[in-house]
Amino acid sequence: MESTLTQIPSMTWELIQQQLKYVETNSVFYREKFQQLGISVDKLLPKDFTKFSITTKEELATRNKDFICVPKSEIIDYVTTSGTLGEPVTFALNEADLQRLAANEEKSFQLAEVTLEDVVQITTTLDRRFMAGMAYFLGLRKLGAGLVRVGSGVPELQWDSIKRFQPTYLVAVPSFLIKLGKYAKDHGIDCKNTSIKAAICIGESLRDENFKLNALGKKIEELWGIELFSTYASTEMSTAFTECEAHEGNHILEDLIYTEIVDEQGNLVKDGEVGELVITTLGIETMPLVRYATGDLVKKITSPCKCGRQGARLSSVLGRKKHLIKFKGTSIYPPQITEALADWPGIDLHLVKVSTSEVGTDHLEVILPNSFPKEELATLKPHLRAKLRVVPEIVFWEFEKLQQTVFNPKHRKPIRFIDERTQGDKI
Ligand SMILES: [Zn+2]
Repeated sequence: MESTLTQIPSMTWELIQQQLKYVETNSVFYREKFQQLGISVDKLLPKDFTKFSITTKEELATRNKDFICVPKSEIIDYVTTSGTLGEPVTFALNEADLQRLAANEEKSFQLAEVTLEDVVQITTTLDRRFMAGMAYFLGLRKLGAGLVRVGSGVPELQWDSIKRFQPTYLVAVPSFLIKLGKYAKDHGIDCKNTSIKAAICIGESLRDENFKLNALGKKIEELWGIELFSTYASTEMSTAFTECEAHEGNHILEDLIYTEIVDEQGNLVKDGEVGELVITTLGIETMPLVRYATGDLVKKITSPCKCGRQGARLSSVLGRKKHLIKFKGTSIYPPQITEALADWPGIDLHLVKVSTSEVGTDHLEVILPNSFPKEELATLKPHLRAKLRVVPEIVFWEFEKLQQTVFNPKHRKPIRFIDERTQGDKI
């Protein structure tokens, strides 16, 4: 394990040290933590970096203000996390952080081959306390590309803007591209014959661990016939990981973030193995994080990318650590269920629900709309067994109720999973 740690490149180690010195001086939370751990940043060696215990989501939520390193008068923008694993957490940014965010997103758009000549239509919200929407705006402005701020929803306005401004890229949540495609079909618009050549997608995985398009990705490709760039980002990381034209993993912007992949015990896993992503943000002034456990399960790919860029990449998120379901002796993550259902023709809407049974075990349900033809259950169940090794209980809801639960206007992303075991997580 130590041999991997000592391989922190010296340039990266300098950036990590700068960030550590900065939080030691300015963050109440980290100053206390370093004192408790008996760590002096000046004397720290790269191999000792793991002596820092992990920073948890719970610590970030309960001691939120103690993470802030700048006076209130310096703070410009307040945002919150998406709340995928609980209540949203506050984040704040100063001028330097907004500039870093712009530089991060400029690099991200460049990876997706956006140039000055392009016009990018943003179909995600720019407000509602959402960091990414502002990051897109700042990044495109820095890059100098054209941009259209349509915001989330409203397919009619999206299509009007596509006709009017002839954008070449869309920034979108994948499920919304399906919705937009359906609207087009119903209104005689040919999705495959527009100015759009690619979409930069956020919030939902498009590829499996072998970089092949998953069922959602395939559906979008069939509908639109455009190139799809997958990205992975979060408010806590304040950094985006984006695919290049090779589409074989999301490139890590190594001057902005340091990444480690760890197992259940917190030890580094081998490159290419699945583990939890732990991040240390670099260059952040207001709320820097040191060895923060994201809860996201990913793989790091260190083999050279076909595009020729240096550095490692991350896979799509393969699951959330906290969402592991143990059903009838089988371990399953919700995205596997979504993927198995997405292959089935005619299932456009579904919800996965896990609760605690009377005997204390996980109980797994798949909720489908009432309109699902019941005679298909005889073939759907063996399909699920083949994909998941177990068959969840299948439950039917009224279409409207299911639609409203999945596309809840209070959430930025569709809700595909309800966890009633503890605090009712939704993703
Ligand atoms: Zn590449």
